[in-house]
Amino acid sequence: MSQEYIEIRGARENNLKDVSLRIPKRKITIFTGVSGSGKSSIVFDTIAAESQRLLNENFSMFVRNFLPRFPQPDADAIENLSMAVIVDQKRLGGGAHSTVGTITDIAPILRLLFSRVGQPYVGQPHMFSFNDPQGMCPECNGIGRSRCVDMSKALDMSRSLHEGAIMLPDFAVNSFDWTMIVQSGSYDLDKKLSDFSDEELEQLLYAKARKVETQFGGKTVNITVEGCIEKFTNKYIKRDVKTMSERTQKRVEPFITDGPCLLCRGARLSQAALSCKINGNNIAELSSMEVGRLIEVIKEIKDPIAAPMVKALTERLQRLVDIGLEYLSLDRETDTLSGGESQRVKMVKHLSGSLVDVVYIFDEPSVGLHPRDVHRLNELLQKLRDKGNTVIVVEHDPDVIEVADHIVDVGPFAGSRGGTIVYEGSFSGLLQSDTLTGKHMKHSMPIKDHFRPAKGKLSIVDANLHNLNNVSVDIPTGVLTVVTGVAGSGKSTLINEVFLQKHPDAIVIDQSAVGTSTRSNPATYTGIMDDVRKAFASANKVSPGLFSFNSKGACENCQGLGVVYTDVAFLDNVKTTCEVCGGKRFKEEVLAYKLGGKSIADVLEMTVEQALSFFDLKEVVRKLQAMSDVGLDYLKLGQPLSTLSGGECQRIKLASELHKKGSIYVMDEPTTGLHMSDITHLLAIMNRLVDAGNTVIVIEHNLDVIRNADWIIDMGPEGGSNGGNVIFEGTPKQLLSAKHSLTSKYLSR
Ligand code: ADP
Ligand code: ADP
Ligand code: ZN
Ligand code: ZN
Repeated sequence: MSQEYIEIRGARENNLKDVSLRIPKRKITIFTGVSGSGKSSIVFDTIAAESQRLLNENFSMFVRNFLPRFPQPDADAIENLSMAVIVDQKRLGGGAHSTVGTITDIAPILRLLFSRVGQPYVGQPHMFSFNDPQGMCPECNGIGRSRCVDMSKALDMSRSLHEGAIMLPDFAVNSFDWTMIVQSGSYDLDKKLSDFSDEELEQLLYAKARKVETQFGGKTVNITVEGCIEKFTNKYIKRDVKTMSERTQKRVEPFITDGPCLLCRGARLSQAALSCKINGNNIAELSSMEVGRLIEVIKEIKDPIAAPMVKALTERLQRLVDIGLEYLSLDRETDTLSGGESQRVKMVKHLSGSLVDVVYIFDEPSVGLHPRDVHRLNELLQKLRDKGNTVIVVEHDPDVIEVADHIVDVGPFAGSRGGTIVYEGSFSGLLQSDTLTGKHMKHSMPIKDHFRPAKGKLSIVDANLHNLNNVSVDIPTGVLTVVTGVAGSGKSTLINEVFLQKHPDAIVIDQSAVGTSTRSNPATYTGIMDDVRKAFASANKVSPGLFSFNSKGACENCQGLGVVYTDVAFLDNVKTTCEVCGGKRFKEEVLAYKLGGKSIADVLEMTVEQALSFFDLKEVVRKLQAMSDVGLDYLKLGQPLSTLSGGECQRIKLASELHKKGSIYVMDEPTTGLHMSDITHLLAIMNRLVDAGNTVIVIEHNLDVIRNADWIIDMGPEGGSNGGNVIFEGTPKQLLSAKHSLTSKYLSR
C-alpha cells in the first residue's frame, strides 16, 4: 500500500531537522504551524522543488540547459511523488492582453458563441478576439486605451497666451513653439482662454499643420503652425517612448495619461465585431458585466445551436460565482487582481482541467476571503480531491483546517526552535493535542471592553472610484481602525487607493519582499550593522569599512557572498560553500579582529535573541529589542533577506518603524501567513503603535483582530456593484447589534 502515500524521509531544507512524514494521496492534507516553523520548507522547498526537478529530468540535457535549475532538495528520500501544480498568490501578470476571461478559458467559448449565433454574422471566432489582428480595434491594437494628453494639466484656462496659458513643455512664453503660435496672428494674446470661443479653442488646440505667411525681422517668411495638443501628440505620444532620452521622458510624462480609446471606447474590438449582437448585447458588453449578472444573461439565450456553448459557459461562470468572485467581470485585467483573487482565479482554471493524480499545492488560499465565503473555498478543495488529486494546503484559518483529511502541524516554534513535526493526524486529534495550533483552535479572543476615543479625524468625501458609491467616511486618528467587508466590497479601493492618494505620507506595511539582494540581511536592513561595524572598529583601532562584506574586508574568492556558483556546461549550476572563507564571507585578517571574544562573522551567525544578551550598545539593543518584540528573536542577523517569508518581511518592516510617533500606518491583511498564536504578537504591536500616538488602519477578515479594534468601518453589503457602501461605523461592541452587517453575524457566532 506504499503507493497510497507520498513519502519523505530525512528532510533538512532550511530549519528542518531530519523530518520524515507520509502524505496520503487523493486526500486533503493541511500544514499548520507558527510563521517560520518550516511549513514552506517542507511544502515548497522540498515537495514542490522535487516535483519540478523530476519534471525537468524528462528533458534532454540540451533542453535542460535552458530551463531554470532546480537542485535536489536536501532530503534522504522523496517517494511516490506525481506532478505538482502550485496555486499560489503570485499576482497574475500578463499585461493588458490577459484578462479574467482569457486566463479562465471562458473568453474563447464566448467568441465561439458570437460567431455561431450573433447577428449580423461577421465571421469566425477569432474576429471577436482582441488578441487577434483581425479582431482587434485598429486604433489601440486591442488594448482599449490609448495614451493621450492629460487635459487637466495641459492648459490654465484663467490665463492668456501672454501669461503662459499653455502649460505643456515647449510652449513656455517666448519659446520657439509659443512664438510660432503667436506669429500665426490667429489669436488675441491678452484674452484669457476661458473667454475663447469654441472655434478659437479648437483651432488653438487641435488645428492640423498648415503653412502661414508671417513677418519675421522685416522679412516675409513661411512658417508651419498646428494646434498645441496636436503638436505635442505627434511629437511625444505617437512616438515610441524608447526613442526619447530619459530626460525628455521625465519632462513629458506628467502631461500624458491613459484614456479610453477614441474609436472603440475601451471595447478593444473592431467595429465589425462590435456590431454583432446576441439579444441586444455585443461581446464587449457581456465581457464587462459582473459574472453574477452575466450568468443570468447567458441563460436567456435559447437558440438550440447555442445550447452546448451556453452549457459550457454557465458551468464555468458558476465556478467563479462558487468561489466568491461573482463581482469580477471577464474583461478585468488580471494584473489588477489582488493576491487572493489571483489565487482563486487560478483555482477555477484548474477545476476546468481534466488532469487527475496531480498534487495541487495551495499557499493560504483563504487570504482575502470573508468568513462568510470560506466554506466555498472548502467545497472547491474537496472537488479537486474528489476528482482524484492530492491536495496540499498551507493554511492558518481554523475554518479551512477543519476540512482536512490529514493534518501536519509543524513546530513547536519558529526558526531553529521549529523544524519538527509536532502532530500528524485527524482534525479531532489536533483539538486534543497540546501543540500551539491545537490549543489555539479551541478558544477565540473576547471583544475588548475599553475602546480608545478618537483624537481627531481624517475625512474621505464623496469617493466614487471603482464600485464606491459616493462614500464619505471619517477615519478616527489615534486609534486602531479595522476596515471589514466581504471580498470585492471596496475595502482596498477605499483605503489603498482613495485614502492613500490623499495621505501618501502614510507608512504602508505590506508583505512584499524587503530586499532582493543576497547581500542584505536583518542586520543591514535595521541599521544594526552600522553600529556593530563602528564598535568593531573602535575596539580594534581600524577602519569600520573592513567589517563590511560589500567592501575591502570581503573574502576575495567569493566577493563576500560566502558561496561560489560554478557553471558546468549542460549540468545544473553548482552552488558550493566558498573554500577560502568557509562561508564566513570575510578575509582571514578581518576575522582576527574580535569584539568581546567574537568575530564579525560570529556576530552575523547570532540570532536576535543571542545578540540581545551579547551587546550593551544602546542603539543596537533598541533595534534588536524591536525585532524581538515583533516575534523575530529566532532570526539570524546574517540571514539573507531574500529568504524571509512574507510574514517575516512584514514584521521586520514593522520592527524598523516601531519607534515613530504621530504617523499613519496602513496594513492590508497583516495576519496573512500568521498562525493564531502569532496574531497575539501582532495585536500587541498594533496596540503599542497606537499607544505611542500613531493612527493604525487595518484591512482585515480575521475575527480576533476585529474584536481588538477601537473602531470598525464595515463595507458592503456585498461585493462589486452590490457593495461600495459603508454599512456600519462604530465600536466592535456596537457592531454586534448591526443586523444588516455580514461581519456582525460572524463576529457573534
Ligand atoms: P513557514 O512556512 O512555516 O513560515 P519557512 O519554511 O518559510 O516557515 O521557514 C522556516 C525557517 O527557515 C525560518 O526561520 C526562515 O527564516 C528560514 N529560512 C527559510 N528559507 C531560508 C533560506 N533560504 N535560508 C536560510 N533560512 C531560511
Ligand atoms: P475589497 O478590497 O473589499 O476586496 P476592492 O476594493 O478590491 O474590494 O474591489 C471593489 C470593487 O472594485 C470590485 O468590484 C472590484 O472588482 C473593483 N476593482 C478593484 N480594483 C479594480 C481595478 N483596478 N479596475 C477595475 N475594477 C476594480
Ligand atoms: Zn480601440
Ligand atoms: Zn569566501
